[in-house]
Amino acid sequence: MRKNLVIAIDGYSSCGKSTLAKALAKQLDFIYIDSGAMYRAVTLYFLRNNIDVQNEEQVNDAIHHIELNFHSRDYESHITLNGEEVSEEIRQMPVSESVSYVSANKLVRKEMVKQQQRMGKSKNIVMDGRDIGTTVFRDAQVKLFMTADPKIRAERRFKEVQSKGDLETSLEDVFENLAHRDYADTTRLVSPLVRADDAIILDNTDLSPTEQLAFAMTEVSVHLKD
Ligand code: C5P
Repeated sequence: MRKNLVIAIDGYSSCGKSTLAKALAKQLDFIYIDSGAMYRAVTLYFLRNNIDVQNEEQVNDAIHHIELNFHSRDYESHITLNGEEVSEEIRQMPVSESVSYVSANKLVRKEMVKQQQRMGKSKNIVMDGRDIGTTVFRDAQVKLFMTADPKIRAERRFKEVQSKGDLETSLEDVFENLAHRDYADTTRLVSPLVRADDAIILDNTDLSPTEQLAFAMTEVSVHLKD
């Protein structure tokens, strides 16, 4: 099989991108990279170190003190920030509430895109995010653009938040956070979330994880024979 097949999955917040990406990576034995986790880990570093995202000097200095690494276990991706495992902490509300401000910063994006392109070089990968098919891997062979009803997305995320033991965050909080992030991600100046012209839309409002995997596999299988 070829060694540089790239599957780019973009879409709105909490519409199942990582569920699909992980399932594809498992089925195909590809490397899975969660680009959102990288923006979240940078955000965590900024919060901990009081970095002002409007201050170019502070941001420039900070991004050179951040080392991110992925460790894959059973196709689940775990991320470390300067050697510390932060996979759980980056999913909590303080990071979710600030990540869109940090990810809109052009210096942050330039550095993340550079690292993501390096990670995917000459490998078979599945990467999910907001700008994978439009910026990071414009020539990806398979591009999916995922969407789902905002209420369904909030309910799914709310269940996940609760299952992690966070009983303080309400369904309304989650709904508002998703709406805010979608707005910020689609309207920012640098690499806004937009469907690539050649991306296939996958609306999973009424699809189960198994059904969405089958849909995606149909698209991918065409390229497996190349
Ligand atoms: O994918 P996830 O929801 O964890 O991403 C968190 C945030 O990171 C998004 O709301 C977006 O602001 C940012 N992001 C981005 N570009 C990517 C992936 C994520 O701007 N490729």
